[in-house]
Amino acid sequence: MLSRLGIHTVLDLLCHLPARYEDRRAVTPIGDLRRGASAGSVIAGSVEGLRIRPARARNVRIATFHASDRSGRVAVTLFGGPRSFHGLSDGASVALYGVPEWRGGGQGIPELRNPDWAVVEERRSPGRDAGDARVVQMPAGWGRLLPVYPTVNGLPRKLLAGMIYDCVTSPDLALTDPLPPEILKKRGFPPLRRALMGVHAPQDTGEIEPSRARLAYQELYEIQRNIREAGRERRKRHAPSLAGGAGAADELARTLPFGLTPYQRDAIGEISADMCAESPMHRLLQGDVGAGKTLVALCAVLQCVRAGYGAAVLVPTTVLCEQFFSECAGRLAPLGVRCAMITGGTRQGERARLIESLRGGETDVLVGTHALLSPGMECRSLGLVVIDEQHRFGVRQRAQADTDPFVAGALFPHTLMMSATPIPRTLCLALYGDVETTVLRGKPPGRAPVVTKLVSSNHTADVYRFLLDRVRAGERCCWVCRAVGDEDGSGGAGTASVVDRALDIERELARKLPGVRAERLHGRMKPEEKASAIARFRDGSSLILVSTTVIEVGIDIPEASVIVIEGASRYGLSQLHQMRGRVGRGARAGVCLLLDAAADIKRSRRLEILVKCGDGFEIAEEDLRLRGAGELDGLRQHGRVPLRAATLPRDSALLDLARADLARNGHFQ
Ligand code: ADP
Ligand code: MG
Repeated sequence: MLSRLGIHTVLDLLCHLPARYEDRRAVTPIGDLRRGASAGSVIAGSVEGLRIRPARARNVRIATFHASDRSGRVAVTLFGGPRSFHGLSDGASVALYGVPEWRGGGQGIPELRNPDWAVVEERRSPGRDAGDARVVQMPAGWGRLLPVYPTVNGLPRKLLAGMIYDCVTSPDLALTDPLPPEILKKRGFPPLRRALMGVHAPQDTGEIEPSRARLAYQELYEIQRNIREAGRERRKRHAPSLAGGAGAADELARTLPFGLTPYQRDAIGEISADMCAESPMHRLLQGDVGAGKTLVALCAVLQCVRAGYGAAVLVPTTVLCEQFFSECAGRLAPLGVRCAMITGGTRQGERARLIESLRGGETDVLVGTHALLSPGMECRSLGLVVIDEQHRFGVRQRAQADTDPFVAGALFPHTLMMSATPIPRTLCLALYGDVETTVLRGKPPGRAPVVTKLVSSNHTADVYRFLLDRVRAGERCCWVCRAVGDEDGSGGAGTASVVDRALDIERELARKLPGVRAERLHGRMKPEEKASAIARFRDGSSLILVSTTVIEVGIDIPEASVIVIEGASRYGLSQLHQMRGRVGRGARAGVCLLLDAAADIKRSRRLEILVKCGDGFEIAEEDLRLRGAGELDGLRQHGRVPLRAATLPRDSALLDLARADLARNGHFQ
């Protein structure tokens, strides 16, 4: 569970910051509760008129009562299991924390629905007048600014909060401050221990922001430092010059049924020039969905092979790996380039044969998932490493993929990283430092923008009708399911819902158009099953593809022209844009229907941005601005937390400070 939050070490745990705080320091007299409060209050009172009854759901009980102090009365409703209301009885004293509401236009008494609660002792404080002397004992853990942490399903907030609190207050906690004392002094930052107390157990709200800022700075500083160190190391190294293959782009272009766009030519030119040098290239290729990055990468690969070196392509998932491989082999094999593929599913015998062929120099290009990093998978004289969908490998793995596994002998390969989604500038700077970036602008010609519509799920019948029309006209449709509990599209709980949904849709369409076949695609399927599902969809034996968000990751099916995305407001804008990019790649204009409950559509005005804007770079900026890089959705999308304490673009100023401090070369080392 913790690892799903990207927490691997004690320091990671301590750098998992609260999303907000609940002020539970003081008890508010009930009579002082005000309408329209957005923050909660602690109140204390004695229980009257307690009733406990079963709820409709099994094993759920509902307790209702009034709590009163000398200033007023609140109505309280609690939900719990059969044993949750232990100790609750008429006359008992309780502490309650929640946001008060007023039912029915604000007449009557305030109400607390499902507040946090505890039975407390009340004691008389000595030495004061009787009557005023009721002093409420705060429940354990209350009486302070209580941090509320982001978490994942299956890890209760309170458990996580308890772990962090115990850890940060432990007398045995020994931490070395990663920031040099000079910086602390110069920037006026609190020491590490104080900053940690300041965010996890603040005495006062004023402590929180300076403490958080320090931790955010520290995080950005460390990432920048690592990037700079890696850069310094890299610049000392030697790479083979691949100048001998400089004619590769023309060679490949001659075999294509279309011409390379001028943008592709520019991008290829930049990359090619880097690879002609004798220091290792370290370049990031960015481009919008469907911009044609793969072909640019293939030109680089061919150049490498023509110069007499081997190339390796690292791809994050099996589906993408197969796709890249088929494109790679499809385009390069006719030119005499020998391509091979390795995934987690590659059998032992096959693997051994592969290792042999690599050793013997009989394979020119090896395309693979993480399995590529396993021992023995060494190309002889490796000239180029391409890392596709770079951001999916996360900061840690990236550091590893950058260097270690590919190094053999004195020459280091060139590295070309590719990002499927445009990365906003600040985030790019934070995660990649000064890495050289090639932006592939524009799109191949003849692409009409995808028409995007927001549709309330009350109108699903219309959607079916629309699909039916399209399918009748021979078009193909993707349907992305709301897969409950399957946020990362890796299978899990969502699998069942995909299968159900596929059946629903099949049935619904079959009623009107007998024999329409729907294909299913989800993370739990075996790689062969996935591949054959995609193949059947591609060749038209199935016209509908029902999937989880696995579809998001760069799957290229030019034949698909309609995509329906259920529960659209749950996704980030970039993710939706990425999914939408699955259609409108071929000759037919694409249509994207974003489906959600009417209320959710109304509430999430950001979906409008997608309707209006088709530019991935703009959308990425907007996404970052609206949600922040540390947002948990990012974790879902990328498989890990890119940043923990820092939030971009909010902390751009801290990023600039960190970069400036580090640029004073050696000064703070
Ligand atoms: P992405 O940048 O999202 O990875 P792809 O490389 O998958 O995009 O390319 C999207 C589609 O565009 C592919 O089907 C590819 O064959 C096609 N394509 C690439 N370059 C061109 C071009 N110059 N002209 C026409 N189609 C192209
Ligand atoms: Mg791609």
